[in-house]
Amino acid sequence: MTTIKATCPDCGEVDLTADDILLRIATGEGSNTYGFACPTCSEFVEKPADERVIRLLLSGGVMPMLVHVPAEVIEPRSGPPINHDDLLEFHELLQNDDWFSELGAESNMDDLTS
Ligand SMILES: [Zn+2]
Repeated sequence: MTTIKATCPDCGEVDLTADDILLRIATGEGSNTYGFACPTCSEFVEKPADERVIRLLLSGGVMPMLVHVPAEVIEPRSGPPINHDDLLEFHELLQNDDWFSELGAESNMDDLTS
């Protein structure tokens, strides 16, 4: 297994394997980090991971972990925010039993996927 050298702020350079390293990749907005429990002092060390570091770690066999970012954060938005009238309209729509098919006919779902 490849030995990966990392630096502990207390112990200096330490030798790790890919399994020792936790690589967090943030989806969308967010910062990527890598961390490891120091084999000498067992302190957990966490550092920011720029693209170069990420490439290095990946090539060393580190499995990246995708950090969950709520889908709302990265979903595309369009149009004005909903208001009370929209809410009332929606409420009235829900009074009908076929509200779902009506809703499907009204909104253009293609907008969301394109
Ligand atoms: Zn240490």
